Amino acid sequence: MSGKLRVKFWGVRGSYPTPGEGMVKYGGNTASVEIRAGERTLILDAGTGIIPLGRGLAQYASAQKHALEVVLLFSHLHHDHTQGFPFFVPAYMPNARLHIFGPGGTPETLSSVLEHNQSSETFPVSLREMASTKNIQSVRESQIIVWDEAGVHVAESTVGINDEALVVRIHKSYAHPGGVYIYRITWHGKSVVYATDTEGYVGTDRKLVAFARDADVLIHDAQYSEEHYRGQLAGFPSTQGYGHSTVTMACEVAAASEAGQLILFHHDPAYSDEMVARIEASAKTQFREAQAAYEAL
Ligand SMILES: [Zn+2]
Ligand SMILES: [Zn+2]
Repeated sequence: MSGKLRVKFWGVRGSYPTPGEGMVKYGGNTASVEIRAGERTLILDAGTGIIPLGRGLAQYASAQKHALEVVLLFSHLHHDHTQGFPFFVPAYMPNARLHIFGPGGTPETLSSVLEHNQSSETFPVSLREMASTKNIQSVRESQIIVWDEAGVHVAESTVGINDEALVVRIHKSYAHPGGVYIYRITWHGKSVVYATDTEGYVGTDRKLVAFARDADVLIHDAQYSEEHYRGQLAGFPSTQGYGHSTVTMACEVAAASEAGQLILFHHDPAYSDEMVARIEASAKTQFREAQAAYEAL
């Protein structure tokens, strides 16, 4: 199978969706990123950005008359990364097959959280009532998700994985309340690292730097300006310890890991386009190939 590794952003906000004036350039949907590897579709997180993405996938599959198969990876299970899933149209399609992975103490943790999110008290349709075929599994950091000719499966090592496979490796970070999975997706020698909801350390997060080494694209949390993080922005309390990075922390990881490009992600929901643009400009002075994620990038 040939083709390019493509990344498309559908939701770039952290915490909660922010529609409205002043949020138009970068967009107001919460975290969701589409990765296309040839014909294969992988989705990172199910914030509200997954809703328009799902609609597009459903329309494409109907027009092409082929069954949808999608891998969905959750970085963690906070609301801004799961709240779009109940409205993800492919989950309702009987001929769609979803392989859903994320963190959890036991293999069943992820499915029980998703079931809970759609309990009768909180949502009209249960997870079971969604007609697609769903394989939902919590995975461990040591495991590798592989998508090859044999389909999607979880491997314990890289032995026997061939060059045509789409491969996902996991780094478990503790730099966010409750922990977060950082993913490295590799296809035909190209790599994308998705490091959302993570706070930097003094002297950089060395484990993350090693994990992200030489990535072609590093998507990194950059929720806060330096002033906001330190409590020096009027009306905004300090956010140290919240589990999110400043733009400088993101640039330090990009530089130390020698990433090809840095995409700033998980913008603060209170930040206007103007404020995100300022963060982006500051990033470019620290890491040349930096830009802020926006919907449709
Ligand atoms: Zn988040
Ligand atoms: Zn979070």
